[in-house]
Amino acid sequence: MGSFADWPVVALRPVSRRLRRSFLDSKEQLVMRVELVHLAWRTARLTATISLLANLASGALLVAFIVSSGKLLGDISGAVGTGWDSGPARAVAMSLIATGLCFLGMQTLNPVKTGLGVLLTRQVDGAVRDRLAATSVNASGLAPFENQDLLKHLSVAKEGLEEGSRTPGSAVAGLLTLSGLYAQSFFAAALLVVLLPPLVGLSLLGGGLAIRRSHRIGLARESNINALKRAHLGKEAGYYRELGLGLPASKEIRVFGLERWLGGRFRDVSVRALETTVEERRAIHGNRFIPPVLVAVVVSALSLFWIGRQAVSGEISIEHLVMALQAGYVTLSIGNYFVEDWETQWGLVAHRAVESFRAGLDGRDEAAVSARRRADRRLPPMPRESLRFQDVSFRYTGGRDLVLNNLNLDVPVGRSLAIVGLNGAGKTTLVKLLTRLHEPTAGAIFVDGVDLLTLEPSHWRRNVAVIFQDYVRYQMSAAENIAFGDAAAAENRAAIRHAAERAGILELLDGLPRGLDTPLSSAYRDGVDISGGQWQRVALARAFYAVDAGAKILILDEPTASLDIRSEAALLDHFIDLTKGLTTIVISHRFATVRKADRIVTVEAGTVIEQGTHESLLAAGGQYQKLFELQAERFASVPGVDRRRSGEAE
Ligand code: ADP
Repeated sequence: MGSFADWPVVALRPVSRRLRRSFLDSKEQLVMRVELVHLAWRTARLTATISLLANLASGALLVAFIVSSGKLLGDISGAVGTGWDSGPARAVAMSLIATGLCFLGMQTLNPVKTGLGVLLTRQVDGAVRDRLAATSVNASGLAPFENQDLLKHLSVAKEGLEEGSRTPGSAVAGLLTLSGLYAQSFFAAALLVVLLPPLVGLSLLGGGLAIRRSHRIGLARESNINALKRAHLGKEAGYYRELGLGLPASKEIRVFGLERWLGGRFRDVSVRALETTVEERRAIHGNRFIPPVLVAVVVSALSLFWIGRQAVSGEISIEHLVMALQAGYVTLSIGNYFVEDWETQWGLVAHRAVESFRAGLDGRDEAAVSARRRADRRLPPMPRESLRFQDVSFRYTGGRDLVLNNLNLDVPVGRSLAIVGLNGAGKTTLVKLLTRLHEPTAGAIFVDGVDLLTLEPSHWRRNVAVIFQDYVRYQMSAAENIAFGDAAAAENRAAIRHAAERAGILELLDGLPRGLDTPLSSAYRDGVDISGGQWQRVALARAFYAVDAGAKILILDEPTASLDIRSEAALLDHFIDLTKGLTTIVISHRFATVRKADRIVTVEAGTVIEQGTHESLLAAGGQYQKLFELQAERFASVPGVDRRRSGEAE
């Protein structure tokens, strides 16, 4: 316990805490404006400058209008009964013209300001969207997209950019509109200072600014707390909405009668999001407004009282009275809540989310590439001699366990390799490392003796063609779906046909309404939907196209998993025959479908536990033999997969 002598310190503690908080709030407000100015300068310098000038001019014109209309009133009362040609009548005419010009100026500037605001919003948002897209697309690996924090930033950024009034562009446009409003209040206060004792104008301005500061700080706190939480709840609600409205789940929703459940869930999450927002708003804004509003009310009442008394006692003319009243109102109106306050705050949240996402991504890429990266250079086609995983371990970001654990593997160049293992063994992860979508946590992959990490990912990837299990079914033409195997080059019709032919799909594609130019989706004109098996062949054609374009390694990562074992065995046999002489890697969780591969590797818990040919592995009597027997037994009728250990096709 403190002594009695400590009481001043103790008593002042809350005050110093408040002052400190107040200082931090002011700093944040300043930083925010600087960020938006910087954004405007970077993305739409000219439009922003013209828009700022238009807004400032508009503020000045309003005050000029107050002056000229007040003067007009005074002139009229002085000109009554003096005749048209008198000096006072000419003064009335001049004031009238000045008032009319100010009015005309304001009316002309209004649509100009609006148009500039729209243009500015588009320019800034366009630039921010490009920046976000470039960052996402240029990210060399997948790790950032599996990091929950970065994904939250991305989600806030996307939400902001998709919602018209919350974009960084609307924040910049809002800031410039607010500048005009500030200007008009400051000009009006200056007019008051000229007309009345300075204390009146300054205290009205102070009252307005104090109210303004309260709601700006409240908004800033609210947006800081809310953005990420809302992103989380919004994501959940958005998922239910998509599920309910989208085509993919429509079958199951109807068959299982999930409509009510889904509707209820959507409502619950949405209400929870709303309640959270209301509660937070209450806590943040609460009594914040009471002190400044009280000050502003007292100041306004005193000012009005004082002005009224002066007018009654004849100390202030009618024209000054009218000017002072209008100027007083405009000065105080800076304390109003403007929609631009909301726009600047939430648009800034979206802008910051984009920047945080970018910063997170850059940091990650930097760390991953590390000091070992060499200068960018053109690579010869690789591998020519060897491809080796050496003591490779890997853990996903945020994951607890090693998914690959000290894995060693020689991939035979110019031959076929099958990697088999149960689901979750780490097979796909291995492919992700080979394609540089992730980097090893420890160990390295060497291609022709060169550490893969030292190569530029995009250059290295030209050597690799992969069909993943969840390969993409692009809603585009058949030709484009195949030519994406080498999107960097111009589309080569002959090569597309050759690839489709090898994949066994050319005849079908030629028979479509617009041949190879037919969109592979019935959502488009002349488009058709093709079956899962036919899509697999299109994906295979894409991989063959990539090989023709120079890819040296061809990987099939279980794109056949949805086929029955008989079809998978047939397709993989066909594939291995077709790709003789190439470095191919075929991945399967079925041990009974890859017998034809030159080498078979069994992976378990992220480690290679055995390898050899089909025959040698069967003879070894290990895991491969056990699971092969088990699966072959269950699918005894599968051609080429009999229970005899010969491994020969029938
Ligand atoms: P396989 O291809 O052999 O079925 P994977 O390589 O896909 O296995 O997965 C190996 C392990 O890594 C699994 O336990 C899986 O849950 C985990 N895993 C896969 N992808 C991720 C990821 N993006 N984040 C965290 N863990 C993952």
